[in-house]
Amino acid sequence: MENIYKIFDGHNDVLFRLYLKNKKNAELDFINGDNEGHLDLPRIVKAGFSGGFFAIYIPSQEVNIVSSDTPIRYDDMKNDSYELPLPKEIATDIALPIALEKVAILSAIEKKSIGKIKICKSSKDLTDAISNNQIAVIMHIEGAECIDKDFNNLELLFNLGLRSIGPVWSRPTIFGHGVPFKFPSSPDTGEGLTDIGKELIRHCNRMGIIIDLSHLNEKGFWDTAKISSSPLVATHSNVHAICPHTRNLTDKQLDAIKDTDGMVGVNFAPAFLRTDGKMLADTELELIIKHFDYLIEHLGENRVGFGSDFDGALMPNQIKDVTDLNKIRLLMKSHGYNHELMKKLCQDNWIKLAQKIIN
Ligand SMILES: [Zn+2]
Repeated sequence: MENIYKIFDGHNDVLFRLYLKNKKNAELDFINGDNEGHLDLPRIVKAGFSGGFFAIYIPSQEVNIVSSDTPIRYDDMKNDSYELPLPKEIATDIALPIALEKVAILSAIEKKSIGKIKICKSSKDLTDAISNNQIAVIMHIEGAECIDKDFNNLELLFNLGLRSIGPVWSRPTIFGHGVPFKFPSSPDTGEGLTDIGKELIRHCNRMGIIIDLSHLNEKGFWDTAKISSSPLVATHSNVHAICPHTRNLTDKQLDAIKDTDGMVGVNFAPAFLRTDGKMLADTELELIIKHFDYLIEHLGENRVGFGSDFDGALMPNQIKDVTDLNKIRLLMKSHGYNHELMKKLCQDNWIKLAQKIIN
């Protein structure tokens, strides 16, 4: 079935995983397959994974990246309720070299994959990559710490292929206030976009850059909705009515996403799936289908896709890596999703959404 329903995914952190290796030619580990984490090229090909948003994420300075390969503390997220403190803001001059290192890894992957991977900078690039069976990459920044207040770095990164930005991760930036990992809680946790944050939205609209709302709090979401001329997009967030986590979307937010013909990618991390908000690997895959169902009901069949969070979050233990995506395809089919719907959810919705924005 994997050959019929290729999966284009709203979010992965494989560049962070490769960056943490802190070694030369980490791109070769990806291309040849290191069998670590969730994604590498041989497993991507085997899984029928046609591409997705590849995130550039800057680790919080409080986190010891030598001893921690995850951006958040999972142990705290196993309690009945929790609120992780927001990490400190990261200065642009610290963030930019780290971001460029990840761009360099991605560029080296594209170059050395000899045509197997394509960083897509236009709508045509996406069409061509998909029809040529190349892995289609949308370069995404998760937390815009590397962008300066004068937006010079935005122009620079755009020229290197950047086509999607989350103004914040769950951490403040000069652009806005990230949502803390808090359960149970409304996503309405603080201030919205700053004036420079609003300017960032206008720049992204003008340049054809996707704006990702996944880590914004509710005020930031509504500030963006007010200003942006693009469809509203949450690349890797779930349903708040099922799992009342700050990272998930309320019905009102889903209505706004629908009204702008935007999109949501379903995140596999247990803390955003489970009704009890716990980050436990012992989590049934049926919950993923439950979020798909709810999103399809509220957004319609054309506005839902995948947003796995591979290599960025703990996965349910039946998903050991990307090759287990077929378990989800089979569940979707046995749940009654027909051929047309499968094609849309697995790949076509994301491609059409991206093509509307990135020109
Ligand atoms: Zn994320």
